[in-house]
Amino acid sequence: MCACQSIDKYFYLRYYKIMAKNMNFDTHTGCVAVIGGGAAGMACALRLARGGRKTVLIERGDRLGKKLSATGNGQGNVTNTDISPAHYRTDDPARLSRILSRYGTEEIVGFLESMGGIFLADGRGRVYPASRQASAVTDLFRGALAKCGADVLTGVHVRSVTYDGKFTLMWDGGQMCADAVVLAAGGKAAPAFGTDGSAYALARAFGHTVTPLSPALVPLKCDPALVRGLKGIRIDGALRLVRGGETLFSGRGDILFADGGVSGDLIFRASSYAQKGDVLELDLLPDVSPEKLQTVFQKTGSLLCVLPNGLARMLAREDEVCERIKRFLLPVTGDFGFARAQVTRGGIPLGETDEGLQSLLRRGLYFAGEILHADGDCGGYNLHWAFASGLCVADAIGGKA
Ligand SMILES: Cc1cc2nc3c(=O)[nH]c(=O)nc-3n(C[C@H](O)[C@H](O)[C@H](O)COP(=O)(O)OP(=O)(O)OC[C@H]3O[C@@H](n4cnc5c(N)ncnc54)[C@H](O)[C@@H]3O)c2cc1C
Repeated sequence: MCACQSIDKYFYLRYYKIMAKNMNFDTHTGCVAVIGGGAAGMACALRLARGGRKTVLIERGDRLGKKLSATGNGQGNVTNTDISPAHYRTDDPARLSRILSRYGTEEIVGFLESMGGIFLADGRGRVYPASRQASAVTDLFRGALAKCGADVLTGVHVRSVTYDGKFTLMWDGGQMCADAVVLAAGGKAAPAFGTDGSAYALARAFGHTVTPLSPALVPLKCDPALVRGLKGIRIDGALRLVRGGETLFSGRGDILFADGGVSGDLIFRASSYAQKGDVLELDLLPDVSPEKLQTVFQKTGSLLCVLPNGLARMLAREDEVCERIKRFLLPVTGDFGFARAQVTRGGIPLGETDEGLQSLLRRGLYFAGEILHADGDCGGYNLHWAFASGLCVADAIGGKA
């Protein structure tokens, strides 16, 4: 028996405004504590609570789903119509593939729409809420969690999890007990959203390892002089990432010029392969032939209505303007690190868990989302993994796996 008291005695609010600081409480037998109120934790907690499991969702930030609300440039690219394992990097591709085949696009869209809303794919297969508002997806979760009676604690930073026949979670001034714990506390990317990598220690305490961590889907740095004055300019361009004459990646999409580097969808995709010393060869006008470009520039001497003004002004001052437009070279000097990355590469190995993502080292401990060693391409793949792994864990706990 835990010396703490029943959560129900203390909290008449069964919702996310509960303040749990300086309080100790026990929970009913069978309680599941989900640590991390991001995409994975919310999906997992909702499925558990809907299935009738006593569920406590614990988030260190003052609100649930802050990162989810910022995804997809605020539009929330929640999944993709092509969820093939080739879009992911992980220590255990076969396991990841089995999970994705159980929790595919239809399953995830169905789950999201079970809360309300409509989710639609764009021409590239990227799925968004029809309103194009990521924050509305978070609102759907908040509403659904409140409706099904999940207890939500915000402003609670879990500092340790121990096991002695039951799990005990401790935070500054408080603690609780649970029969099962889901670690859905994210990775190390975008620490502004509460994910500074400190949660890996909670898993290490049970003997888990963490594979090497690196920032993924991250803006790339180059010599600031090469992009001076271009900040904020966005183009639909093409690129080749070249190392020693070999093309490592090529693609077409959004390129956003930034202070001292480049960002945007296409750069995020290239960042998975890039390292210092590589060269980005940009084609700033992939739909226009060099001949057409030459003809227009020779006739007018201007790039107005050809390229965005800032870029046009910069290039018009240079020699071999048309060649530069078709082959704009940016040697990569590094990346902007975890602070600017969208996702973490590496984490708790899938190989240290079973089919339901339960720890092989401590039964009753589960993992979901970015904390695991599984990261996807740009295009909805990371939120898909967060939702899919969260549901996979909930179904395993609920005995549905
Ligand atoms: C700017 C940005 C845009 C993105 N856009 C997209 C997109 O459009 N599509 C896509 O697929 N992916 C996108 N991603 C990636 C995607 O958001 C993440 O992969 C996904 O949110 C991971 O979900 P998660 O639940 O595992 O972790 P998170 O969403 O990071 O949630 C983890 C939560 O755990 C909490 N936490 C951590 N430690 C503790 C603790 N000890 N105690 C209590 N709480 C704790 C954190 O505060 C956090 O809220 C984007 C990421 C960023 C940063």
